Amino acid sequence: MTAVFHDAAVLPAGSPEPVVRLTGVGRAYGSGPHRVHALRDVTASIAPGELVAVAGPSGSGKSTLLNLVGTLDRPTSGQVVIDGHDVARLDDRGLSSLRAHRIGFVFQHFHLAEGTRAVDNVADGLLYTGLPRRRRLARAEAALHRVGLSHRTGHRSHQMSGGERQRVAIARAVVGDPALLLADEPTGALDTRSGALVVELLRELHTAGTTVVIITHDTELAASLPRHLLVRDGRLVEDAGAGGPVRERTG
Ligand code: ADP
Repeated sequence: MTAVFHDAAVLPAGSPEPVVRLTGVGRAYGSGPHRVHALRDVTASIAPGELVAVAGPSGSGKSTLLNLVGTLDRPTSGQVVIDGHDVARLDDRGLSSLRAHRIGFVFQHFHLAEGTRAVDNVADGLLYTGLPRRRRLARAEAALHRVGLSHRTGHRSHQMSGGERQRVAIARAVVGDPALLLADEPTGALDTRSGALVVELLRELHTAGTTVVIITHDTELAASLPRHLLVRDGRLVEDAGAGGPVRERTG
């Protein structure tokens, strides 16, 4: 059965333009008898301010979906619109620019430059802006403060714990104030406690208004978020908790 969820067409009038809009999206690899359909006919929208998990077992198509939403790849069928931009209409340069300005990435293994101070790692997230170094560093300090690492700005990667490194990576991802924060298994390399702190931080960013998408094979984590999309065998089989920007309630 084809799952059609949360389509922009059925959002209430006056709803903001989705940050992510996928319409009938497919991605196949290879050709002939070796053709693999990693994703088939995925339709879903993510509104500004949502916190969404994309969950599914290994091989279900999560990375393929991440690459499409992160504009690192193009679909073989259907339409991908990110922050109002149809990726089919952008050339590689346009896609790089969209990625740099509008999408913050967080990876399982942090992807920080080794031997580089935390503040410089974060400031690198602003290289595309052309801001002078002094201003990039000032914004990087503020981002590190936001993730609770004001006391680690001069630390280098190898001098920090995994949880701290991931928080530096999150600071780097949000320092440019992206429309979308895309986290690929952000707790996958962390112990339970550090992982919980990272999830807590992602929740805080969401509460402050950032749109956050977390790719995970951890069904418990997925179920704990306001909305989760479940991918299985390349198809979107469940969309639980959908319904526009869902905010954490405090108090
Ligand atoms: P997940 O991230 O959920 O583990 P993937 O998106 O990596 O799943 O893969 C989905 C399916 O697509 C798998 O069957 C995988 O083998 C296949 N696949 C992924 N990338 C490629 C590729 N570059 N070439 C061929 N098959 C691929």
